[in-house]
Amino acid sequence: MYHAHMDTVTRYIDTRELDGSRPAFSRTVVTGIAPGGGLFVPENLPSFTLEEIVALSELPYWQRAAIVFGRFGVDLGDEHVETLMREAYGDQWDDERIAPVVEVVAGTHVLELWHGPTSAFKDMALQCMPLFFSAAVEKMQAEGSLTDDFLILVATSGDTGKAALEGFADREHTSIVVFYPDGGVSDIQRLQMVTQRGGNVGVFGVRGNFDDCQSAVKAAFSDDAFATRLHEQHGLRLSSANSINWGRLLPQIVYYVSAYADMVAAGGVKPGSLMDVCVPTGNFGNILGAYYARRMGVPIGRLLCASNENNVLTDFIATGTYDISDRAFVTTPSPSMDILVSSNLERLLYHLAGPEAVRGWMAELATSRRFTVDRETFAAIRELFFADWASNDESLATIKRVYDEYGYLMDPHTAVAWEVAERLHGEDPVLVVSTAHWAKFGADVYRALTATAYDAPLADDAARMSGLELLFEVQRIAPSAGPVPAPLAEIACLELRFSDVVDAGRDGVEDAVSEWLTRS
Ligand SMILES: *Cc1c(COP(=O)(O)O)cnc(C)c1O
Repeated sequence: MYHAHMDTVTRYIDTRELDGSRPAFSRTVVTGIAPGGGLFVPENLPSFTLEEIVALSELPYWQRAAIVFGRFGVDLGDEHVETLMREAYGDQWDDERIAPVVEVVAGTHVLELWHGPTSAFKDMALQCMPLFFSAAVEKMQAEGSLTDDFLILVATSGDTGKAALEGFADREHTSIVVFYPDGGVSDIQRLQMVTQRGGNVGVFGVRGNFDDCQSAVKAAFSDDAFATRLHEQHGLRLSSANSINWGRLLPQIVYYVSAYADMVAAGGVKPGSLMDVCVPTGNFGNILGAYYARRMGVPIGRLLCASNENNVLTDFIATGTYDISDRAFVTTPSPSMDILVSSNLERLLYHLAGPEAVRGWMAELATSRRFTVDRETFAAIRELFFADWASNDESLATIKRVYDEYGYLMDPHTAVAWEVAERLHGEDPVLVVSTAHWAKFGADVYRALTATAYDAPLADDAARMSGLELLFEVQRIAPSAGPVPAPLAEIACLELRFSDVVDAGRDGVEDAVSEWLTRS
């Protein structure tokens, strides 16, 4: 295990460089990516005793979060953090437990991370991180180390864009503009974004696919002239708030600590006994939260890493070689896990092997699209992580099977984790992490329930339905599915605020932003 030197307040260091500037939490969040090109990681981790963890079950979720953040020495003051957490985990959630644990069958529990305003797990972090971001900017402006406000630019294939919009809407010192591929997101995903409330938000379709969208936003980020113009004419700096920001990772540790407390309280695990955790994995952020929780004292046994057909992580955990040199990107019913480069893996590698090794491997990945870890690191990974993957048809079949057997309806991402958890189940109870409400992926859930293959067209009557009508059809054929979350069910009644579609490319994005800034 790699240890840097200890300090009383948590400072953050670069995964690729030992002698960085070691910022505290708030500067880390505003900076995003570390100056040496790596990711920020905490220099030391707090720890919890079993008694402390178990006692959390008596507290509301916002307080559990405030306690974990307090241990991390978040540099905003304990009272301020409490106020922010009351707001982040307040009544915009449709379950007051925020991240409830549900026992679906003896020994298999589901951690539901989709009770937030956009019905997907990104809310767990994005209802919280923008509050930290805004408070951090305020603090830095008060100290005189910053004068500008921030403009967050996001390219989205669907879910992240909506969760980021909802998180940053009407947050002080920030505004946010989201770009999505026109025609490349589902009916419901588009409606969720173009009806977004808030005075500081903008949404644009881009003529092109997600890659075009992402390259255009990246090009805008690396255009110095654009940055200068934003600074001089609008007093703004650009930021991305993407999933490698430490401010998005820290909230993802909280729900593992919280879940263990709930499991003990419900009798799902004896105090101090181990539970395994199975996570549907894309960018490796969610499962990394479980890794940190384990190191902080939560009795987690094995970390089960579940992938879909984009199974580069399954191969990495089996062989120690991360190889995307000859790997095609596959489309799946779990699009939020469709990833080739799992960015947050770099943080795990740092903790196991240190910055020099990480620098070497990341350089190899950039040049030859593959790297192999050393034997010791591989052994350390194999002690903690177990991995498997589910095919498109397997994951849809799992949705139907689990609904038929237990009356519990899952989305396709959760189904991947369920299938893998079932295959890898050991002695200990397993916590299956559920990352989206089924209604977010209604068409594929409908396919699953009607035993239609992933790549088969929908039957005529279903094909004629809108995304929303299809959800009500799912409820008709799966009566114990539970209600469609209100923000989705009511979406057809909301005002359409954004209809602009712009050209792909740097100029398309920059012109859209400039015009939006003058308008608002
Ligand atoms: C983002 C996301 C994931 C993947 O999480 P990572 O932290 O990227 O591993 C899984 N499921 C859903 C629904 C998501 O939105």
